[in-house]
Amino acid sequence: MKLKQRKLRGGFTRFRLMLTLGLAVLLPAAALIYVNFSQLRTFERDKVLEAAIHRDFQEMLAIAEKKMNKKAYTMAEEARDVFPSPDTEAGEKEKKLDLILSKNPWMAHVFLFDEKGLVFRSQPQQMGDQYFRKEHDQLAETFGGWLGMEGKSMVEDMHKKTRLMSFYSSPTKRADGETYVTTALFALPGLSSDRVVVGGATFDACYLKQTFFPGMLEELVNQKMSDQGGNRLAMMVYPADLDGGHEIKPLAASTGWGEGKPEVTRKFDDVFRGLGLAIKYQGTSVEALGQTWVHNGFLILGFLSLMIIGGLVLTKHIVSKEMALARLKSDFVSNVSHELRTPLALIRLYAETLELGRITTEEKKQQYYCIIRKESERLTALINNILDFSRIEAGRKEYEFRKTDIAELVRNTLDSYRYQIEQQGFALEESIDPDLPAVPVDREAIARALVNLVNNALKYSTDEKFLGVKLYREDSVVKLEVADHGIGIARRDQSKIFEKFYRAGDPLVHNTKGSGLGLSLVRHITQAHGGEIAVESTPGKGSKFILSLPLVSATQQPVSA
Ligand code: ADP
Repeated sequence: MKLKQRKLRGGFTRFRLMLTLGLAVLLPAAALIYVNFSQLRTFERDKVLEAAIHRDFQEMLAIAEKKMNKKAYTMAEEARDVFPSPDTEAGEKEKKLDLILSKNPWMAHVFLFDEKGLVFRSQPQQMGDQYFRKEHDQLAETFGGWLGMEGKSMVEDMHKKTRLMSFYSSPTKRADGETYVTTALFALPGLSSDRVVVGGATFDACYLKQTFFPGMLEELVNQKMSDQGGNRLAMMVYPADLDGGHEIKPLAASTGWGEGKPEVTRKFDDVFRGLGLAIKYQGTSVEALGQTWVHNGFLILGFLSLMIIGGLVLTKHIVSKEMALARLKSDFVSNVSHELRTPLALIRLYAETLELGRITTEEKKQQYYCIIRKESERLTALINNILDFSRIEAGRKEYEFRKTDIAELVRNTLDSYRYQIEQQGFALEESIDPDLPAVPVDREAIARALVNLVNNALKYSTDEKFLGVKLYREDSVVKLEVADHGIGIARRDQSKIFEKFYRAGDPLVHNTKGSGLGLSLVRHITQAHGGEIAVESTPGKGSKFILSLPLVSATQQPVSA
């Protein structure tokens, strides 16, 4: 009845533990893993990372365009500031424009349009180049005609802008192929908007291609580098009008552009209309980065999941072990109290009977004395076991090794039990080698180990009452065997019986008094002698415990409790 109740309680505690583990740990852990996993899947499917990087790139390109525009505006404004007034004498205008050209080598052409017509000057040293001369002729003609027709409305429009300036860009040709120029057209500040006066400065194609764009791109890329987690950026400028269908060919690029397609492009407006800006990573693509990132994410998640699962299994294992130990301890307390009570009650009963003087025959009296002695011996053995056990647990157990005639020690110990053994109907078979050398042992401890083994053999035998004790030498080891033909020990229990408090699940074991300490003590004693203990057993047939002690100086070994 009690056992049933305890089983029920144990089952309930285990259920509660599983429920707590499930609800408090397993569920959140599983949810966490699931959420992370599906988030990663979403990232993978929707290319969230790629989109975020592309957004970033768009922003960088917008900033890059702004900076390039700003620089072009500033350069053109600086030129405008030294522009000659339209009212300067005819010959002077040319001179002043030539001076501007010589001071600003970035300019290919410079011109002034006013009521008297267009004065158009170009870098004189470049006029030898046929392409440059062609460009000169084309632009002079274009601006002459265009400003003649549209000059007035153009000046009005410019006066509406804060910078009084607009840009006109066009493709052009040089010896090394197609290229590009842009011209700043501006109203001269200080002149009224009624006067149709327009100044102009053309950025040289070579300057743009070889100096302006590469310098700006390098500066922008270097500025942005720190923002990118270790991946270096590359940027380039390309002719955007050729975009459709044509492969994008850089006009100018920052170092490390290399091969590969741009991640994001942006067409210039305003100053460099007709060109485009492109950006990418050096040596890798956003897609590849995204894939690596997601891949690593999955790997880390997998690893963490394994760790969580491992941790849970370990926790469950440890908690179950602790629970089993707690159960064993509570069994131990009730077993021990029971074991203490029974001999005490017997001693008291027999002593009281003797005291009353009711026992008349000497033979009966002797029998009573014997019972009292045996019960007190049982009590002493039990208390010694418990004391030893608590010393071991506290790490205070000490052994005193002395050269001992072990055969005599075993014989003496058996002698004091012989009567009890025979009384219980056991056949005792002794085989003790008398010629054994002296072995360094702790006498008391070895005797206690033997007593525990003998007691177990007596306790766990039913029909066939046999006890065999053998002492012999095998190489450099002395072996002490205690065998019985009792109930035996199931295979799965054989490794556990040496643990403290452990008692096998056999019903006979439960009906037999015991504390589960005996064999753990035997093992401790043996190991302290540098020896080992083994068991051979077949359920229903019997058991044999073999204790091996080394012959040569047994140094005390550190033993786990
Ligand atoms: P106790 O005998 O007090 O229960 P022990 O530590 O001496 O504790 O033994 C542990 C368990 O090992 C016993 O409960 C029993 O199940 C098993 N056992 C020990 N010796 C024998 C034996 N000779 N035959 C069968 N089972 C045994």
